[in-house]
Amino acid sequence: MKKRALITGITGQDGAYLSQLLLSKGYEVSGLVRRSSTADVNDVRLKWLGIADKVNLIDGNLLDLSGLIRTLRDVKPDEIYNLAAQSFVKSSWQQPILTGQVTALAVTNVLEAIRLECPHARFYQASSSEMYGLIQESMQSESTPFYPRSPYAVAKLYGHWITINYRESYGIHASSGILFNHESPLRGIEFVTRKVTDGVARIKLGLAKELRLGNIDAKRDWGHSRDYVEAMWLMLQQDVADDYVVATGRTTTVRQMCQIAFDHARLNIDEHLIIDPQLFRPAEVDVLLGNPAKAKAKLGWQATTSLEDMIVEMVEADLKRLS
Ligand code: NDP
Ligand code: GDP
Repeated sequence: MKKRALITGITGQDGAYLSQLLLSKGYEVSGLVRRSSTADVNDVRLKWLGIADKVNLIDGNLLDLSGLIRTLRDVKPDEIYNLAAQSFVKSSWQQPILTGQVTALAVTNVLEAIRLECPHARFYQASSSEMYGLIQESMQSESTPFYPRSPYAVAKLYGHWITINYRESYGIHASSGILFNHESPLRGIEFVTRKVTDGVARIKLGLAKELRLGNIDAKRDWGHSRDYVEAMWLMLQQDVADDYVVATGRTTTVRQMCQIAFDHARLNIDEHLIIDPQLFRPAEVDVLLGNPAKAKAKLGWQATTSLEDMIVEMVEADLKRLS
């Protein structure tokens, strides 16, 4: 019998790559899609990977508990990956309440639906390195204390702990992946890597002259989404549910990341990059650096794509899209 997976957030970056991975492993893949007036474009990432017609899309919203219960009753999934969220840190200051409802409380909707409908299904929660915020240790591991610095990070912390609580309270096989930033050609255009690769491609093609950024001194541990969804899957294949940091173990400034993109396009960064104070955040996460030792030891997982290769892949994809 084919294994069945349900992915919330299937239309997002990770949802698309995870679908591709699970399909390649022979899973039947279903995904929750929130209703939109532009339904014709919400599967654009699945189409990019050529898998839009291979997954079963179900109308639903993480905020709607009864819909989730019916979805689980219909799909009867073996594995549930909760990737849906208001996932953009900057927007979380603009929409703090919505961020709390979707990114925090709605995790309990999914867990309650599991408890009621399929308590033996395995659950993955998309936790985030943003929870470390004002870092308490130079390299962050599963035991590093959290210090969230945005409404998004506060919401993710709730999702993380409620996942652990349902594991401990009800014995649900619930794992939380503390994933550091991961990108790809399918990354949302509002995130800095994609904003940069799209901007560089526009400048190269003569469609734009400048690229405006905020704090380019911030440092992130960037990996590739295609690698990171593999870690999600591995977590749900373990006999015992647990929490894992997923990271590369290397940190780079936004400026250095930009330099890679400009260099690849043979453009002079100083002629095009403009620092815009409007793009700074009310509170910043200055540096993130993950320690993936546990994921390596227990899951046998490690990142395989370098930042350089990933940024080049993204610039090339944006050049292709725009031309
Ligand atoms: P995306 O922003 O690309 O995708 C988010 C997904 O959530 C989209 O499919 C979106 O649907 C869906 N969604 C949002 N609100 C709702 C809702 N109310 N009901 C149902 N679906 C909803 O994020 P990523 O793929 O990059 O990330 C996946 C998860 O991992 C997120 O939870 C994110 O916070 C977390 N994460 C991501 C990291 C990263 O670097 N990428 C790092 C750590 C954690 P729609 O297409 O309609 O907008
Ligand atoms: P985050 O780590 O989840 O917030 O991912 P982002 O890609 O949105 O931001 C990464 C870092 O880049 C943060 O420290 C931002 O402040 C910084 N940054 C600098 N300029 C920009 C910009 O124009 N857009 C975004 N999204 N981030 C920027």
